[in-house]
Amino acid sequence: VAELNLVEDGKLHMATNASFPPYEMTTDDGGYEGIDVEIATEIAKKLGLELVVDDMEFSSVITSVQNGKSDIAMAGLTVNEERKKNINFTDTYTKGVQSIIVPEDSEIASVDDLGKAKAIGCQEGTTGYIYCSDTEENGGYGDKAIAYPDGATAVQALTTGKVDAVVIDNAPAQEFVKANKGLKILDTAYAEEEYAIGVSKKNDLLLEAVNKALNELIEDGTVQKIVDKYIQA
Ligand code: GLN
Repeated sequence: VAELNLVEDGKLHMATNASFPPYEMTTDDGGYEGIDVEIATEIAKKLGLELVVDDMEFSSVITSVQNGKSDIAMAGLTVNEERKKNINFTDTYTKGVQSIIVPEDSEIASVDDLGKAKAIGCQEGTTGYIYCSDTEENGGYGDKAIAYPDGATAVQALTTGKVDAVVIDNAPAQEFVKANKGLKILDTAYAEEEYAIGVSKKNDLLLEAVNKALNELIEDGTVQKIVDKYIQA
């Protein structure tokens, strides 16, 4: 499919941050797995391509597509107006909400208490960081929001007491709490979001092809099957 103008012939390069379970994570043998990885593999198959995962910090995922270093961005990537200025999005394929992780004995009991935190860990470049680092009058916490390169590092800062809470998407929050003793997720989640695949504004053909493949996979139940495999309701 030469006319798709890909980074590499026969390959579909996916920019992601593979520290975001259950959407993308590394396997013990150096591979990648997760909801996005499996959906992207199916999309690549439909296009007659082989998926290649380009693992990087989340904050580089959009620019990697913009600069033509990767073909698509798939990283539990939330659609928002700011990002739409830089990349095009396919239709959405799943939803997320921002969740708050705290130590089990935390005095922070709800999103209304988040201001009590001395420091809040977020992932650099994410919507969670954008909300938390906003000014107080806009409902944010300003300088209290600390950006870490990925979710695992932010959660590590929480378990070592460097921050008092972590704000991250709900499904990774569940995974990180499962993997670390003494943490819990607050019942109050906020900021509903929708995830989609990012494609370069200069590649409408690829956007169309990926969107068509994605919609076929949504309609025949493949996407739901993959989501259900990783997220138990
Ligand atoms: N959904 C969030 C965002 O798009 C976080 C994504 C991520 O950390 N991989 O900003």
